[in-house]
Amino acid sequence: MTDNAARVAIVTGAARGIGAATAVRLAADERAVAVVDLEESAGKDTVAAIEAAGGRAIAVGADVSDEAAVNAAVERVTAELGAPTILVNNAGITRDNLLFKMDVSDWDTVMGVHLRGSFLMARAVQKHMVDAKWGRIVNISSTSALGNRGQANYSTAKAGLQGFTKTLAIELGKFGITVNCVAPGFIVSDMTKATAQRIGQDWESYLAARAAAIPVQRAGQPEDIANAVSFFTSEQSSFVSGQVLYVAGGPKA
Ligand code: NAP
Repeated sequence: MTDNAARVAIVTGAARGIGAATAVRLAADERAVAVVDLEESAGKDTVAAIEAAGGRAIAVGADVSDEAAVNAAVERVTAELGAPTILVNNAGITRDNLLFKMDVSDWDTVMGVHLRGSFLMARAVQKHMVDAKWGRIVNISSTSALGNRGQANYSTAKAGLQGFTKTLAIELGKFGITVNCVAPGFIVSDMTKATAQRIGQDWESYLAARAAAIPVQRAGQPEDIANAVSFFTSEQSSFVSGQVLYVAGGPKA
């Protein structure tokens, strides 16, 4: 099969930011794309961008941490686009705080979206990949997996995704399924704008300071991550599995 074969991809958290750019990029790679986000209506701009470029996409509303919602979403994608054999677990949230101020709900909510969500989505989709004897799963981790002040919950979840990736790579490899992680550094998105706001910094000066600390001297854009996901979901990457690729403009966070 070539890259022109019709593959169906699911991208979670694809209404905006990295997920939206990834959905648009996979559609340009000739994948039919399910744009999954909390609210179906939130995905309409991503779907419109894909359709305007001649691609095929639907918006699907689902909270990835809700088992019934995930199963219903995957069933709907299968009925409307076809069996999904590409999954990008991108949906994410932050609930930053220093340990002594971190609520149990801040911990549980972050684990729920990143870890439980990625588990539920992968479990729901894997049977289609096994049937097809072909699949690509990409989990979006973070340089925060290496440790980041104020992010005990988020860094733990992002490190957990790396272990999840390596274990799925081992379990699913014999079915022609690869599983990899892309770990972004500092990327311009609503998430990083919210961080600047939370710590009381003006966005432009925060952005300039962060960019100055990155070896390539710029902040990342969502498309930088989409490009890496495009490689891991391509036909040509079939011998690359269980890897973590830091896409951060340099070797360290
Ligand atoms: P973003 O702009 O905040 O977008 C995240 C998307 O995920 C939003 O559309 C959000 O929906 C959706 N979402 C949140 N919880 C969900 C749930 N339970 N079910 C379904 N969708 C949900 O974030 P981003 O910066 O693009 O980040 C995307 C991914 O990259 C995340 O996993 C993040 O942790 C990771 N990452 C980002 C950076 C960075 O610098 N931006 C760096 C490293 C890793 P709502 O709008 O309704 O909340």
